[in-house]
Amino acid sequence: MSKIERAKEKLADLGRQMYQSGLVAGTWGNLSLLVREEKAVVITPSGMDYTAVQPSDMVVLELDGQVIGGHRRPSSEARVHLAIYRARADIGGVVHTHSEVASAFAVLRKRIDPVVEDAAMLVAGAVEVAEYALPGSEQLGHNVAAALGDRYAVLMANHGLVGVGRTLEEAFTVCQVVEKNARILAWAQALGQPFVIPEQDVAELSRAYRQSYGQPK
Ligand SMILES: [Zn+2]
Repeated sequence: MSKIERAKEKLADLGRQMYQSGLVAGTWGNLSLLVREEKAVVITPSGMDYTAVQPSDMVVLELDGQVIGGHRRPSSEARVHLAIYRARADIGGVVHTHSEVASAFAVLRKRIDPVVEDAAMLVAGAVEVAEYALPGSEQLGHNVAAALGDRYAVLMANHGLVGVGRTLEEAFTVCQVVEKNARILAWAQALGQPFVIPEQDVAELSRAYRQSYGQPK
């Protein structure tokens, strides 16, 4: 089986897991995987039910957005995924969700500060908010890549969350952990004044995580 075919299977699996995790509702949210050797991005199709989506429904794109495989239309948010891969050589997977608590911060256009250690490790800083642009636009891709910087998660204003990782699995974990951190932060703010993990501790936690957990692909 070719690397592209394996990537399609992995996306279909993770798509189902994402749906079951409750991070997305209906057909909203999308994911992609970079096949580095082929300089190709495999992405979920536009507006399809994750419980029914098959590996053969996945779409293969070049980094400039040209479709080179598949018979479906790519996710309408493909430009965001492509802008991130072009900006960050270390990224192998991108997951976009509309999970509720992270989206509440996106609606407030308020960054999500790291208040629990797993989020500090995985995101390597605060989850900043990318400036608003219309969905599917080139400008949105640009804004998201700029606000992501060298961290691993970013909010799209009035829209949702994007998590990235060295692998697709890591990007999915980022989305789950950011949603959890957002929920804890919202509760903590309701109860009092939360302590945000200081920047130097975040940097140390993140460095230790990247050195000792998993391997870049
Ligand atoms: Zn979206």
